[in-house]
Amino acid sequence: MARFDAIIIGAGMSGMFQLIRLRELGMKVRVFEAGTGVGGTWYWNRYPGARFDSESYSYGFSFDPELLQEWSWSEHFAPQPETLRYLNRVAEKYELHRDIQFNAEVKSAHFTGEGWHVTLADGSAHEARFLITAIGPLSAHTLPRIEGIESFRGPSFHTARWPKEGIDFAGKRVAVIGTGATGVQTIQEVAKTVGHLTVFQRTPNWCTPLHNSQITPEQQAAIKQGYPEMFARCAETYACFLHTADPRGTFEVTPAEREAFWEKLYASPGFGIWVGNFRDSYTDPAANAELSAFIARKIRERVKDPKVAEMLIPKNHGFGTRRVPMETRYYEVYNQPNVELVDSKATPITRITPTGLSTTERDFEFDIIIYATGFDGLTGAFDRIDIRGRDGASLKQAWASGARTLVGMLAHGFPNMFMLLGPHTALGNIPRSIEYNVEWVTALLAHMQAHHLTLAEARPEAVEAWMAHVMECSIGLLSNDVDSWFTGVNKNVEGRQVRTVARYSGSAPGYRARCDEIAAGGYAELDFSPACGSASDPASSSVPA
Ligand SMILES: Cc1cc2nc3c(=O)[nH]c(=O)nc-3n(C[C@H](O)[C@H](O)[C@H](O)COP(=O)(O)OP(=O)(O)OC[C@H]3O[C@@H](n4cnc5c(N)ncnc54)[C@H](O)[C@@H]3O)c2cc1C
Repeated sequence: MARFDAIIIGAGMSGMFQLIRLRELGMKVRVFEAGTGVGGTWYWNRYPGARFDSESYSYGFSFDPELLQEWSWSEHFAPQPETLRYLNRVAEKYELHRDIQFNAEVKSAHFTGEGWHVTLADGSAHEARFLITAIGPLSAHTLPRIEGIESFRGPSFHTARWPKEGIDFAGKRVAVIGTGATGVQTIQEVAKTVGHLTVFQRTPNWCTPLHNSQITPEQQAAIKQGYPEMFARCAETYACFLHTADPRGTFEVTPAEREAFWEKLYASPGFGIWVGNFRDSYTDPAANAELSAFIARKIRERVKDPKVAEMLIPKNHGFGTRRVPMETRYYEVYNQPNVELVDSKATPITRITPTGLSTTERDFEFDIIIYATGFDGLTGAFDRIDIRGRDGASLKQAWASGARTLVGMLAHGFPNMFMLLGPHTALGNIPRSIEYNVEWVTALLAHMQAHHLTLAEARPEAVEAWMAHVMECSIGLLSNDVDSWFTGVNKNVEGRQVRTVARYSGSAPGYRARCDEIAAGGYAELDFSPACGSASDPASSSVPA
């Protein structure tokens, strides 16, 4: 059996950066990754039209100034192939492959009393003092619960398992099931070449224009020169984006000023319309209704058939209370004569058939079916691994009615397990949170090395306090009253029908301040037991001081 100081599960951005930092601590590390390459999200999601909603330069790693100068993003919102090339370049620069085992799906991870015993799908076993999960908040893809999925004779794909060689849609009859952020990106791209496209929509989402463009040489020079200020800005904003809420309340300005502000945001690139809007947009129902009415007007202006426009306007949630898909001529797709929108709440899909699918109303024939049905968010990837902590306690069972963590990185009963982007970490513009999480875990491990500590575990009362804070942050948010992965609901996953406080909705600076406080206080919220490390303790020898 192979032994390491640390095992990292996942070679997305979190696992990659954590590997770099643990090597600097002198640790012997092994990364296990289910895919055949690095990149995580950007390795798996190869569907047509996949790209950033974060500004490219605000998304990349910030820790290596040389890399920032070397790498030139071509577009303000880069497409997936470019991001994957970027992450491969990072892996090449830091020679990450030598410590990563690909095609290596972790099936179980059991705490042994001294560390973790990890088993892969191929049956091989590995042990390490520390287990670091870098398994992604949006990596456990879900298919819809519809009978007959296996029976379809043509090609069919989930967007997160897209074939590397790509798919030709020319002249084909294609179905897309799902209209979340991924569905929207897929639909607007596939519609360019398809023979006939049928979109099955259960819940419409509020989509707003991305306004992507090429980065000019002048902009490129300014971006490279301005990195320190840009990352400083990301560190200040609520969700680490370049955009942040306007301090004014919706009704503190005149109707004309409000309209002009929204017009400006609607015409601006990126998430500004969502996270850069009036401060009360997602807490005051009247403000949210006003904003939603503005976006609804835009949809009605863009979609020619009023009946189709009404189908595309959400009626069960307000703008911004679910993840806002960013689009490029998405609504105009429905003006094409070869595109049909089906309301699959009114006429649900009853089964997938060998030649297409049936709804309660009629039968459809397709050459290709695309499942844009998303992910079991935040905890799905944890549930797919049999994780057992102290006394064999199962993490899945411990979290059956909602995850319980300390700052999203530790769980009581699971010593020496550290979660990167675990539930209840600040998300937002995610690589900023990844870098923070990795640095925090690295500092904790350095502290353990320095003090010859072998086991670290969140204290139960610290978990209680953090959970109370997580609940407190969520009070008053309109998004709490809406089913989405933000509230832990996924209609396609058993046991995910009840809303929970699934994510941390406080500010990123507030989150970091709390984590910094824990570190500065000498990690009083953690039990370091047994506090050993004497020469006679063989377990301590694998962690260099
Ligand atoms: C389509 C899409 C677009 C997105 N766009 C943005 C954006 O614009 N801005 C933004 O901030 N965020 C975006 N995100 C979120 C994105 O997931 C994060 O930005 C970031 O990539 C997460 O990195 P990660 O390394 O934590 O997780 P991931 O990239 O998800 O990597 C996790 C890795 O763990 C591996 N893994 C999981 N379980 C196991 C197991 N049991 N055994 C072995 N390996 C395992 C997976 O194979 C995967 O490679 C997007 C997500 C999706 C799906």
